[in-house]
Amino acid sequence: MALERTFSIIKPDATERNLTGAVNAKIEEAGLRIVAQKRIQMTRGQAETFYAVHKERPFFGELVDFMISAPVVVQVLEGENAITKYRDVMGATNPEQAAEGTIRKAFAKSIGENSVHGSDAAETAAMEIAQFFSGNEIVG
Ligand code: ADP
Ligand code: MG
Repeated sequence: MALERTFSIIKPDATERNLTGAVNAKIEEAGLRIVAQKRIQMTRGQAETFYAVHKERPFFGELVDFMISAPVVVQVLEGENAITKYRDVMGATNPEQAAEGTIRKAFAKSIGENSVHGSDAAETAAMEIAQFFSGNEIVG
């Protein structure tokens, strides 16, 4: 098995409800290690760049507005198969379809305001980490 890193965001709906610690508990219970973390107010430009892959989707404007509506916590998570493992811990995009025990089942408000982001592949993880962290901010 491979030690991997993935990129995570605790989204505005979760930071607003003071759920940072509750989300982090689920991350750590799953065996993932938080090796970098900071609370930031995303700019519109940062959110548009981050979600550029979705720019043609009908929900893009709403998604960018949401991501800058309150602070977020950006993180790097490390562990065996961290990318897939975190996607499993997050649960389905739509909380109505998320499995019991997942972060989105427990906390998400809707398909848009769904509490967390996690990278979907090694290439996107590397790009997303690089958008928000410099190498010396990540301490494994
Ligand atoms: P995931 O975050 O599970 O990887 P996607 O990459 O498909 O999901 O979408 C990115 C984000 O866009 C979602 O987490 C959610 O915040 C938002 N989103 C996705 N689909 C919708 C939708 N149908 N309506 C509103 N927002 C959506
Ligand atoms: Mg995605």
